[in-house]
Amino acid sequence: MKNKPKIVILGAGYGGMIVAARLQKSTVVKDAEVTLVNKHNYHYQTTWLHEPAAGTMHHDQTRMKIDDVIDTKKINFIKDSVVEIKRDEKKVVLKDSVIDYDYLVLGLGSIPETFGIPGVQEHAFSIRSVNSVRLIKEHIDYQFASYNKQDEKFDETLTFVVAGAGFTGIEFVGEMTDRIPELCEEYDIPREKVRLISVEAAPTALPGFDEELVEYAMNVLESRGVEFMINTPIKEVRENSVVLNDDSEIKTNTIVWTTGVRGNPVVDKSGFDAMRGRIKVTDDLRSPENDDIFVIGDCALIINEETERPYPPTAQIAIQQAYTTANNLKALVEGKKELETFKPDIKGTVASLGGKEAIGVVGKRKIYGNSASVVKKMIDNRYLFLLGGMPLVIKKGKLKMF
Ligand code: FAD
Ligand code: NAD
Repeated sequence: MKNKPKIVILGAGYGGMIVAARLQKSTVVKDAEVTLVNKHNYHYQTTWLHEPAAGTMHHDQTRMKIDDVIDTKKINFIKDSVVEIKRDEKKVVLKDSVIDYDYLVLGLGSIPETFGIPGVQEHAFSIRSVNSVRLIKEHIDYQFASYNKQDEKFDETLTFVVAGAGFTGIEFVGEMTDRIPELCEEYDIPREKVRLISVEAAPTALPGFDEELVEYAMNVLESRGVEFMINTPIKEVRENSVVLNDDSEIKTNTIVWTTGVRGNPVVDKSGFDAMRGRIKVTDDLRSPENDDIFVIGDCALIINEETERPYPPTAQIAIQQAYTTANNLKALVEGKKELETFKPDIKGTVASLGGKEAIGVVGKRKIYGNSASVVKKMIDNRYLFLLGGMPLVIKKGKLKMF
């Protein structure tokens, strides 16, 4: 009997989980041997991580055990870290073993972009994983807890700097404006002792986004005590300060780095032709160098033909790519040669400002305030629905809408 083809999915993020969930519902799991590899035994929703980072949500709400959603009788699951892909040998080197593939799906997500700025790696926090955000939350709590124990008060203890006012930075700052009053109350600290500073290199927050909505967002956040420093690139991070372009310093024990992302380092380590760790994929989402490797999510780069610039990496695109990839894997396993072309269908962008506020563009419509916040929660719940149906929405969803 002919051996079944081996499909290996690397990464159980938005892209990898949807590919696995689609395949387990199809005939592919009978006709092929499907394996999912992830460094944790749980999946987390990266798009929610600003909330546990600020402490406005428990990190367990953002994650679920992989075998609660994926049927491990149909799909093998390996909990391990991917080290390198040996494309010539069709093998993946994991920390603890080596596995073979016939078809590979590369969906390992991204890491924070540091642009080589000195001190970021050593001294800044990042909003990247359950482990990284749990650490931010604990660190912030500790700053508040230690302040009243200090004989001599240090301003840096209660100064929180967020580098980059892109969507991640803005969403985190928004959550912090909710959390800070609670922490002040809990640790007997007057609100005016606390500084929350959003530092952005570009001439505006959320560069490229609708100007009216950006102004709305900044007004909301400023009214809740956020200080914006716009047009202000950070050039160095030190243990207890950040250094700005004009050499001035902000004293702080807490800098959260949100200046964009680059593709997972496994991409460069494996020698792919890539730009900032992202592989410019073919129309059917394969690596141009290897027709047995699909690349999805933040590791993939696709060009928006209207603007001739890369689409920003988003969960929205990762999920859509996962659907196309699952269909294409099915076609290949069935021996078909014609594969589906990927066409992104961008529904819009909605960003939370904390509390019951958000801003967004849906289709051509601008939305803001509480109604935008409800839409944002519906988007978050929709993903859970796609992954695990109504039971998962009820178990893990954002059910308090208003
Ligand atoms: P991910 O979902 O990040 O998953 C990667 C997976 O790979 C993880 O499970 C990780 O543990 C695993 N992994 C990584 N390295 C290894 C390794 N070496 N070995 C094994 N496993 C590994 N996008 C939107 O569309 N809408 C939003 O509202 C939105 N909000 C966001 C909010 C925040 C705070 C952030 C940080 C991002 C947000 N994004 C949003 C962007 C979105 O999260 C990413 O584009 C999306 O997660 C990419 O999906 P992915 O499958 O490529 O990677
Ligand atoms: P981003 O690229 O969107 O924003 C990074 C910001 O950091 C930019 O405004 C940039 O000018 C600034 N910056 C860069 N270097 C700097 C420096 N040295 N000093 C100060 N500022 C600096 O990246 P992100 O916010 O990390 O988001 C990553 C991806 O995730 C994006 O594609 C984004 O669209 C997506 N995302 C989407 C949502 C949403 O849809 N609600 C939320 C979060 C993230």
